[in-house]
Amino acid sequence: MKAIVVERLGPPEVMELRELPIPQPGPGEVRLRVEAVGINFADALAVSGEYLTRTKLPYTPGMEFAGVVDALGEGVSGVEVGQRVASLGGRGGLAEYALSPAAALIPVPGSFSAAQAAAFPVSYFTAYHGLKTLGRGREDEWVLVQAAAGALGTASIQLAKAMGMNVVAMASTEEKLQLARDLGADVTLLQDEPDRVQKVRDAAGGKGVPLILEVVGGPRFQESLDMAANQGRIIVIGNASREQANLRPVELMKRNLTVTGLWLTSLMMDGEATREAAQALSTLMAGGRVVPQVGPTYPLAQSARAFQDLLDRKTTGKVIIEP
Ligand code: NDP
Repeated sequence: MKAIVVERLGPPEVMELRELPIPQPGPGEVRLRVEAVGINFADALAVSGEYLTRTKLPYTPGMEFAGVVDALGEGVSGVEVGQRVASLGGRGGLAEYALSPAAALIPVPGSFSAAQAAAFPVSYFTAYHGLKTLGRGREDEWVLVQAAAGALGTASIQLAKAMGMNVVAMASTEEKLQLARDLGADVTLLQDEPDRVQKVRDAAGGKGVPLILEVVGGPRFQESLDMAANQGRIIVIGNASREQANLRPVELMKRNLTVTGLWLTSLMMDGEATREAAQALSTLMAGGRVVPQVGPTYPLAQSARAFQDLLDRKTTGKVIIEP
């Protein structure tokens, strides 16, 4: 089968298309014929060795993918060959066939295309946990969504609106802001807009925003603190700038702010939180109010370009690779 292999850390061009044996599912695993792979910022960071966890080499990237179940390992029940599923926590998605623990499979609405199914798990579970599980967002509250046209950003706007919240969306271009408005953002601001701190505070009635989903980091982190309302909650989800942020705890005291980290990988181990998120998401998706935003789609042979475009901020929605 064709697969992408990374043998050394570096920029996306270190990814090579190779011929590999079709993998055999072990106990508790299933094999999928991969139809679509969702590419996350984290995938690009892992290839360059800048992710939260160490990248073990050699490996085939792709942690979020959708496809048709093609073989079952020993002891697997409740899944059928021929069923379309998504996997969150499988491995080696950038290949014609990939393995996933049966426990990591996520049922997808029959109305979803393979690309929509692959675009869903990471962004929507993360957005839900940011807005609700950790963010404790309430109806009519304001939330600030950064990188609003990206995969997580579009998911966050959709979920926030479906939960009855008001959204201030920030992104780097007018075109991206238009997408945010199309998805229901109430106020949109360019990431480099002059007086943006005051404008965000004004949007939320002059008092600042009570909830911020922080994904840019670096020097922008201080701006997030300045945009927050008294008793505001800042959920740290990403550091797309890859720059260092400085946090002076006394800043938090002055306005009773809370800063909470969110990492989906470790949060998935909280069975109750995951079940609650899955239930809420399946209700919203079944109602057709929440539909994953599929972004640019690339063939497997152009995986390096897909990763580079994501890093270069050229993409909106979820970047998809189709083996
Ligand atoms: P996106 O599709 O949102 O793409 C990344 C976006 O980040 C870009 O489009 C760009 O939007 C924005 N960005 C801001 N500053 C920079 C910069 N200096 N370089 C590159 N991009 C920048 O990707 P994802 O949805 O996969 O991820 C969004 C963020 O959320 C990332 O930081 C990611 O690590 C994080 N994340 C964290 C998770 C967790 O479990 N903690 C899970 C999922 C995502 P713009 O041009 O509008 O600024």
